Amino acid sequence: MPKKTRAPKPARAAKPRVDYTAPERLKHIFAALDQLFPQAQCALRHVNAFQLLVATILSAQCTDERVNKVTPELFRKFPTAPHFAALHQEVLEREIRSTGFFRNKAKAIIGASKKVVQDFGGQVPKSMEEMLTLPGVARKTANVVLGTAYGMPMGVVVDTHVFRIARRLKLSQQNTPEKVEQDLMKLVPQDRWITFGHQMIWFGRKICAARKPLCADCPLESVCDSPDKTL
Ligand code: SF4
Repeated sequence: MPKKTRAPKPARAAKPRVDYTAPERLKHIFAALDQLFPQAQCALRHVNAFQLLVATILSAQCTDERVNKVTPELFRKFPTAPHFAALHQEVLEREIRSTGFFRNKAKAIIGASKKVVQDFGGQVPKSMEEMLTLPGVARKTANVVLGTAYGMPMGVVVDTHVFRIARRLKLSQQNTPEKVEQDLMKLVPQDRWITFGHQMIWFGRKICAARKPLCADCPLESVCDSPDKTL
């Protein structure tokens, strides 16, 4: 008897590969953010670079609303870097207790203030390299201050919102804010870095929330295939 031969299985159609960094897709994302948040700004109240530095350190693991409740009185009592540099740690801890992690924050603020006074003549420095020498200051804080207070696009702010959304939109698959920032710096034009950071933070607050993102109302829904989607 002739041996039965199995018919070959039909080849499966290959899934079309999505180019998540295609210029058209990026354009769509930028246009949607521009439309949603044309005037996006930093929500932390401040009148100069030093106050923004303090407010940004306080905003770690804390809402901007909470920080904005604490800083008006804080800056009224201690308006400049020399005032903070001369503070006893316990005094500052009492003032900022409600922002959480107050011991570490007080230590960082006093340390950064001393360095600003001793090494930079009381002015917050204007380069990334110098900013990173301040105690408690990493790239996120440095980018906030350089971008918002000085208008210098030295990088992209990657806070918890930007980190989450960049990964949901597959603009980066990296696992650390520093590496996500490097990816974003390649994809986003430099003249957009400051605005893009603000817009992504507002987008994260208002639409693409960590829990229950509002995908039904999201103008990026058609280009998003995140497993977190609620549609
Ligand atoms: S569709 Fe949903 S998960 Fe995707 S970007 Fe919009 S809100 Fe975020």
